[in-house]
Amino acid sequence: MPSHEQTTVVLGHLTGRSPAWGLTWWGEERRYRTSAHPYRRPETGDHIVELRCPACDAELLLRVRSLALSRLIRKRFLIAAAIGLVLVAVTVAIGLGSEYAGTPIPLPSPLGTSLLVAFLAGAAAAGIGLYGWRNESALRLYTETVKGDEHHRLLSGAEPHDASAP
Ligand SMILES: [Zn+2]
Repeated sequence: MPSHEQTTVVLGHLTGRSPAWGLTWWGEERRYRTSAHPYRRPETGDHIVELRCPACDAELLLRVRSLALSRLIRKRFLIAAAIGLVLVAVTVAIGLGSEYAGTPIPLPSPLGTSLLVAFLAGAAAAGIGLYGWRNESALRLYTETVKGDEHHRLLSGAEPHDASAP
């Protein structure tokens, strides 16, 4: 199927919640009134599609990214995460190595401080990169001002996340 073909997204409007529990978990059951909305996926870049919720007449914005753009963004997040992890590994190795060699690097020294900064930056890059990689989705629901709202949800239409092809 060509990626720019028209497909459908299912929008859910929250109609009620009730507590739910099982033997080993408890949580909340949410019920949605669903409506299907056709949209077109761009071949490149992204665009915004307007959806109207039939349950409450709210106008919602759906951002649709092309698969190519979505893949590119995921790849960048993954590269950032990889660089961050390497930085963490290298700083830890230098730190441990100097400990074992009997000449620990004192933290207040310029070298110690830059190692610490590099370690923290690496950890942050790894965290942000992995988070971004996991959460990048070609479809995202927006209202006019905020990202999504608590009454509406995309119930289907997003691609399954394929971890083997970033
Ligand atoms: Zn609604």
